[in-house]
Amino acid sequence: MPPSDHALLGASSSKRWLNCPPSARLGEGLPDTPSGYAAAGTLAHAIAELKVRKYIEPMSTRSYNSQMKKLKADEHYDKGMDAATDAYLEHIKALAMSYGAVQPFIVPETKVDFSDYVPEGFGTADCIVAAPPRMCVVDYKNGAGVLVEAENNAQMMLYALGALKTYYPIYGDSIQEIHLSIVQPNAGGIREWNTTVEALRKWGETVVKPAAALAWEGKGDFAPGDWCRFCRARAQCSARARQMLELSEAPVAGQPFDGALYTDEQLGGILTRGRALAAWIKDVETYALSAALSGRQIGGYKVVEGRGSRDWAGGADAAFAQLQSRGVAEAMLYERKPVSVAALEKSMGKKEFADTAGDLVIKQPGKPALVPESDPRKPYTPAEAAFEAVTPDG
Ligand code: SF4
Repeated sequence: MPPSDHALLGASSSKRWLNCPPSARLGEGLPDTPSGYAAAGTLAHAIAELKVRKYIEPMSTRSYNSQMKKLKADEHYDKGMDAATDAYLEHIKALAMSYGAVQPFIVPETKVDFSDYVPEGFGTADCIVAAPPRMCVVDYKNGAGVLVEAENNAQMMLYALGALKTYYPIYGDSIQEIHLSIVQPNAGGIREWNTTVEALRKWGETVVKPAAALAWEGKGDFAPGDWCRFCRARAQCSARARQMLELSEAPVAGQPFDGALYTDEQLGGILTRGRALAAWIKDVETYALSAALSGRQIGGYKVVEGRGSRDWAGGADAAFAQLQSRGVAEAMLYERKPVSVAALEKSMGKKEFADTAGDLVIKQPGKPALVPESDPRKPYTPAEAAFEAVTPDG
């Protein structure tokens, strides 16, 4: 199963509390926003774990099929999970093969304890592959969001510190190298990073321990940053509000607000600020609506009913039966629509879709979008997009 990281200083929230230690206690007791993707992620992790267990443990095909059938009966299952978790299994196999003649120890879904560095610190690593002198820590992410880098990834580094402690009775000091990898098939690939046990422990002592001690005590300096997105206090936090309001008032690249036209370079700065402000206001609006709906008074605001929509009383089937009995032709009641490429691929699964329909698909160029320069996608060029539009999707 995926990490059930409910510790105050959990690994999955470590980027936030390492950067802004008082956020841990400030957000304690505040409601968390449930993610609509959590249930699908939990299921995909369970499928991934079963595949790894089948690879490393004696398991009859009958037992495997029966367990898989139960998982696939889940309402959140979609065939895309098969290809994604296959990619995860292939990565684990490749790591195991990288040890050559040595058969490494492989353990999926293992609880790791990094409380030597973080009070009550624990987490669940998706998979550990180890044989001296190298330990690999693997994470699976099912989401199709932003690709997460493995390099200096605090969550993965804490898992590695925990795994070193957990398996110390077996390996002692014979593990010297650490390999971290994040398998994210739906977000575009695998990210890997190598470090050493020495560097990891130094980071644990000099960076993690002091920040974790402050966070545990609710002390330290508030430091707003992109990690605020995952903070329970993100809507109410005055430190974030101060940063946002200062951002909105500060001159752009030293240009006074004197009516002169901004340069394109300066407008880039406006966009960057505006996006941060828009994300903050969205958080505040979401919070305020939820608070008002629960009966609290948001200064100067009230809740009204939005624009409603009409629906068939008693359901479409019953209403349509009535309408046909009143002489309305069936052809007026139902539309025949072609299924989209994405919908058919989802219902068939990636592989079957590629075999059956791959040669019938062309890629239409996506609508150009403005993104920060740090975005990993290559820049858009109209000529290339036109070429891709007439090339069958391979
Ligand atoms: S919203 Fe940002 S600045 Fe405020 S406590 Fe949370 S992480 Fe820190």
